[in-house]
Amino acid sequence: TVTAETYDFGTEVGRLLDLVVHSLYSDREIFLRELVANAADATDKRRFLALSDGALALPENPAIKISTDKLTQTITISDHGTGMSKEELADHLGTIARSGTAAFTSSLAAKSPEERPSLIGQFGVGFYSAFMVADEVEVISRKAGHQEAWAWLSNGKGKYTIKPAARDESGTTIILHIKPEAEEFLEPLRIKTIIRKWADHIALPIELEEDGKFASVTEGNALWRRNKSEISKEDYTAFYRHTGHAWDEPWATIHWRAEGTLEFSALLFIPSSKPFMPVEETRESKVRLHVKRMFITDEARLLPNWLSFVTGVVDTEDLPLNVSREILQATPVLDKIRKALVNRVLSELKSQAKDSETFKTFQDNFGAVLKEGLYDDTGHAADIAGLLRFASTKEDATTLDDYIARMPEGQSDIYYLAGDATNLKTSPQLEGFAEKGYEVLLLADPIDAFWPTRMESYKDKKLKSASQAASLFAPAESSADITALCENLAKALEGKVSGVTASTRLKDSPAMLVASEAGPDLAMQRMLRRAGR
Ligand code: ADP
Ligand code: MG
Repeated sequence: TVTAETYDFGTEVGRLLDLVVHSLYSDREIFLRELVANAADATDKRRFLALSDGALALPENPAIKISTDKLTQTITISDHGTGMSKEELADHLGTIARSGTAAFTSSLAAKSPEERPSLIGQFGVGFYSAFMVADEVEVISRKAGHQEAWAWLSNGKGKYTIKPAARDESGTTIILHIKPEAEEFLEPLRIKTIIRKWADHIALPIELEEDGKFASVTEGNALWRRNKSEISKEDYTAFYRHTGHAWDEPWATIHWRAEGTLEFSALLFIPSSKPFMPVEETRESKVRLHVKRMFITDEARLLPNWLSFVTGVVDTEDLPLNVSREILQATPVLDKIRKALVNRVLSELKSQAKDSETFKTFQDNFGAVLKEGLYDDTGHAADIAGLLRFASTKEDATTLDDYIARMPEGQSDIYYLAGDATNLKTSPQLEGFAEKGYEVLLLADPIDAFWPTRMESYKDKKLKSASQAASLFAPAESSADITALCENLAKALEGKVSGVTASTRLKDSPAMLVASEAGPDLAMQRMLRRAGR
């Protein structure tokens, strides 16, 4: 007869366990994410293996089942996955160098993507996170296609024991004996909240036992991984509202799958209305990052601030599941994804911009945010500027390209006036331009005081503030009276203006302020004064 055998963990496991329990995970609730990921992984694996060996077929309704028991202070998680043999228990849970999943994945690499089930978890530390909340872990497993079952037991302190066990079906059951200080995890509600947060998008049902009955706690629906043609508008809207905490319809839904050197699925939304946003809230992209369907973080800043209104999900194959904050910051994978996302969103905006009514809705909501890109992102400024519509002295809304097309002979630059929407139109600055037949863009967003000087030009046309364009206009013929008036005004305004000159520029107004051609224009000077500088 076979009895219990006790083994030492490989030396690296001891070290790793210490690391995992004490420092790797800042938030111990993710033990559940790791164990659920393993269960989902094993089930996917079995589904895949059953394709070539019918004897391994999954039961009719495979699920991950979770129950808690306050009496015995345990959490039990069971699955219908591949299960593990005695050797596999020792290999996969007793050593770290070999990760069953990683080996499995590399053997699959030769196959086509359609043949590969979606596997979760490449990195070999996930299981040990159980010891963050448990002082004793039992794993009872029966390998699919085998009759015997085995139990693996450990307190995570250097040794583990393997002994014969009983299990009716193939699969794995993990029993966590919860530490007193982790008692909170014995509350089904707590478990439910964690599952919804981290594993809402695992396709497999995750069932929680409450009052003696198991009920599914997730939607089990990784919408972004499904084929566009299978998804209705209502599905998209429901998903958008759920993940984006929104109530409106999406203005744009951008769903695609990148394949080749970089593999990811993205489902992004642009809202159709401005969300209520407290002023102090940081405006960073909250697009969710998933790795192989599992939610990782919404703080990966997948889009730049000037696209922070975009919501949604990006799911990649190219990162390990338990990717750390440090890896997230350093990995070139995310940089490439970021680049691809920005380009895709911009091309969507470009195509929507063909319909000026539709685009107006967008720009009214988010134009001011988008304009931050004109200032912050020199690489994309020209693309962004090409999309935007501006009010002008001739049009309610014009693109820069249309503005350029209307430029009369002799005009070589683009003129704008930044300021308050209420009095831009009646500004005396515009009088001379009207006379010349030059159109002036009227820019009323606060950021408009800044980006044109940063951008300098659009399609080789300089962007010039109307308040600095004195040289466009011929000086007035001077008479003794006018010279005296100018001198007196200059004296009266000493310290406030650097000079007073006569100009032919004004038609109806007697006087106005202009800015010198070097340095900040009037709008920028006003902003700087307001900021106390
Ligand atoms: P990873 O999932 O990144 O490989 P883990 O530490 O989470 O690392 O798990 C180690 C290995 O243990 C897995 O690769 C898998 O082979 C095995 N394993 C863990 N949980 C299960 C399970 N529920 N069913 C079958 N195998 C499992
Ligand atoms: Mg894992």
